[in-house]
Amino acid sequence: MHHFAYRGDDLCCEGVSLAEIAATVGTPSYVYSLATLKRHFQVFDAAFADRKHVVCYSMKANSNVAVLRAMVSWGAGVDIVSVGELSRALKVGADPKKIVFSGVGKREDEIEAALRAGILAFNVESHGELEAIERVAARVGVRAPVSLRVNPDVDAETHPYISTGLQKNKFGIPVTQAREEYRFARGLPHVDVVGIDCHIGSQLTKVSPFRDAIARVANLCRELVADGVDLRYLDIGGGLGIAYDDSRGSGTAPPGRTGVGGAEPSQGSASEGEPPGPADYARAIQEALEEFAGLDVTLVCEPGRVIVGNAGVLLTKVLYLKHGEIKNFVIVDAAFNDLIRPAFYDSFHAIRPVRRGETETLVADVVGPVCETGDFLARDRELRRPKEGDLLAVMSAGAYGFSMASNYNSRPRAAEVLVDGDRFAVVRRRETIEDLMRGESIPDWVG
Ligand SMILES: *Cc1c(COP(=O)(O)O)cnc(C)c1O
Repeated sequence: MHHFAYRGDDLCCEGVSLAEIAATVGTPSYVYSLATLKRHFQVFDAAFADRKHVVCYSMKANSNVAVLRAMVSWGAGVDIVSVGELSRALKVGADPKKIVFSGVGKREDEIEAALRAGILAFNVESHGELEAIERVAARVGVRAPVSLRVNPDVDAETHPYISTGLQKNKFGIPVTQAREEYRFARGLPHVDVVGIDCHIGSQLTKVSPFRDAIARVANLCRELVADGVDLRYLDIGGGLGIAYDDSRGSGTAPPGRTGVGGAEPSQGSASEGEPPGPADYARAIQEALEEFAGLDVTLVCEPGRVIVGNAGVLLTKVLYLKHGEIKNFVIVDAAFNDLIRPAFYDSFHAIRPVRRGETETLVADVVGPVCETGDFLARDRELRRPKEGDLLAVMSAGAYGFSMASNYNSRPRAAEVLVDGDRFAVVRRRETIEDLMRGESIPDWVG
């Protein structure tokens, strides 16, 4: 469900036409729908209403301060992975008692900042990190709340780059070593063991891997409780997938997929199955949690993509059309520095015309100006035949879009816009050429 739809022939975000935003703000620009964000957060939160829980929005998916502030105002906590994210979370007034800190490579300065902020828990990923947390907590003079992130060795059946719960992945403590590490953690004077955590990957389109992971964690929990560990939080991570091939209202034939390779399961046709919605996900989790009967734990969830993915689009303008011998190219002003998902994960984003006019279609690669063959937003895609100057919307770009953008080819990063009903605001101005060179200098012994 999202609030991007045609009014007549104009693609709108809530009550604002994307053409109006492009005319005011320029392109490329990310456009987010506040109503969609709110609905997604609330549906997810409501799915767990009948048990003690905290929804810690995984802000690496989209860390714009306006998006984050909105989430926090609806009661969200935050899952962070760096001191930069901690700063953003604190700036928007997130409750530190709802912040969890994940990631395999926390530096000591980051651990210290999080300890001083008084976060809910560190999700600890290695023996060395436990030692570092003990050292820093002793120095600061506090006890650090920790959960151990266990790697349950289950296949998330997602793209290899976003699968994290297998033994061969760098994440978490192997489930077979976890009991030992808990014993070690409990012996540390400045560490307070509060829970257990697992996150198995991203863009999962089935509930079974979540269920398997929880079953494995439940077995471990029984052993830990027998060892006397006081588990108060059970963090099940994030990873719920979204549908990227939503072509409702596009008026085009089913999108061509030759060459997209189906790397992400959701790229398949609708008949291959949609990702589960939050209610199905919650039901599967609740069922799996019956194994924990008698254990009084607060559930922590870390959704990212499922909240913001379909709440954003990347607005871009067609610069040129090029008809090669074997391929057509639609060259647009957004590139893989703006949205890296197609190049990085071979992922599929629906592309819709901002003004629906032409009904004739064209099969083309939609590519950006960057000097790399990997710079494409879509390949062999059937589109309504665009003209130079037409606007296109790359759908479902709210998650891992702007947050993964770079300045490659010295391209200033896109503007970000938030829409609320009939109004909109620039929530991050387009970068300038000055921004690009900020911090750089030429020593006097050069040249
Ligand atoms: C990235 C990440 C998430 C969020 O994943 P989504 O697929 O966006 O829901 C949650 N927890 C951890 C530890 C992560 O690294």
